[in-house]
Parts: sequence; C-alpha cells; structure tokens
Amino acid sequence: MDRHEAILRELNLYPLWVRRNNPEPVAADAKVEIPVSTMDTAPPAPQESELPTINKSPVSSLGWNELKQQVRGCSACKLRAGCTQTVFGVGDEKADWLFVGEGPGADEDALGEPFVGQAGKLLDNMLMAIKLKRGNNVYIANIVKCRPPGNRNPDADEIATCLPYLQRQIELMQPKLIVALGKVASNALLGRDATLASLRGKLHDYRGISLIVTYHPAYLLRSPNEKSKAWQDLKMAVKTMGGGV
Ligand code: URA
Repeated sequence: MDRHEAILRELNLYPLWVRRNNPEPVAADAKVEIPVSTMDTAPPAPQESELPTINKSPVSSLGWNELKQQVRGCSACKLRAGCTQTVFGVGDEKADWLFVGEGPGADEDALGEPFVGQAGKLLDNMLMAIKLKRGNNVYIANIVKCRPPGNRNPDADEIATCLPYLQRQIELMQPKLIVALGKVASNALLGRDATLASLRGKLHDYRGISLIVTYHPAYLLRSPNEKSKAWQDLKMAVKTMGGGV
C-alpha cells in the first residue's frame, strides 16, 4: 500500500472514490469539479456591522511578537484561570492556508500547540491527503486560546473576548484561504449562528479572504461515515486554491 493510499484509507476514502461510470479510483491528480451553482448560492456575506470588530481592539496595531506576548499574558476571560497555558497557533506566519479549530483540548493545553491529540493526527492526515503539511504554507489556530474546562464549547462571551487575537493573526498573515473546522469556528468567523450543514459546500468571505467550512476532526473521529463529506470540502478547498487533488 503506498502512502497516498494509506492516507485515503485513514480518511475512509479508499477504495470508495470511484468515478461515476468508471470503476477506476479517482486519480491522485484528478481535477475536482465543483458546480458553479454551489459557489454562487452562498448566503450573502454578513455585513461588516455583524462581524465581531477588531478595529476598536487594542490588539489591532500589534505585530506578531507583541501579539504573542499579549496572548501569553491575557486573563481577559474566565478560561485562563482553568488552563495550563495559552495556545497561540502554529505554523507558517505567511501561510496561504489557515485552518481554524475551536479551542485547545487537554493535549494542546499540555503542549501549547493546537491539534496535537487524536483530532490533530486526523487533521495532519487530512492535510497530507491534499498534499499539505503542518507548518509548510499552513497555519493552524483556534477561536479561543485557552482550553475550555472539560472540553466544553467556548461561551459566546469567551469567543467575543478572544476573537480579536485571531482576527489580528489573520490580518498579519493574509492567508488566501481559511478552512473553518466545525460549527463553532465557522460561526465565530462568519458572525453567524447557522448549522454546519447549511454552511458547508459554499465559498464564504471573511473580510475579502475565501473561507470554506468543514467538519471538526474530533467530530469525524466520532462519526467516521462523514469523512467522505469532509473529503468533498477539502477538494473544494484545493479547487479554490487553484490546484487539483
Ligand atoms: N480541537 C480544537 O478545536 N482545537 C485544538 O487545538 C484541538 C482540538
């Protein structure tokens, strides 16, 4: 079994991926076809006034180092008291690809890096399936920088307090594409309160940057049958970036 096949097997995608009317598995370099209609039917981008604001935020003028320092010293919400350390983000600060999760879990809290547990292993394999690698033109961050206790979802006030840090990271990085992992990350970035199903399969706009929504890797670990849908999302992401999988 070659490496590519091994990755597709991990994603439950092999040997499922066959072309209609063609028993051959989809070739590694096959072009992804996304109906234009799905791209055109995205709900209208939220008005600027609906988006969480960074302009009035004290972090909006900070560079990377100052921002990291500010996050390290942050105790603006109740999460900081219950976590070991803040988890800023990891990867290439000039990356074209930004993947955004929800918040650190126990492993991330212990190591200070996003997506290093089981969900992180799956994320790394998802990246490999589209020929990407953590740290290489890829940046990984979370909506909140501190672990919510018991891995609960971050509260709205915690998200609102922490989001300016990520907004500033995005402003500094200027990625070409954001992949939002799960409902919490997607809604926080888009200023929406929508179901994941309604957000998937569309090209969204985050302040002039393309944004695609897919399942959170932790959800995919619990619901492996949904991995094929995540694969569709990843192919759409690659297509949006002008490549093929
Ligand atoms: N889940 C997330 O959303 N982020 C992480 O960093 C790890 C697990």
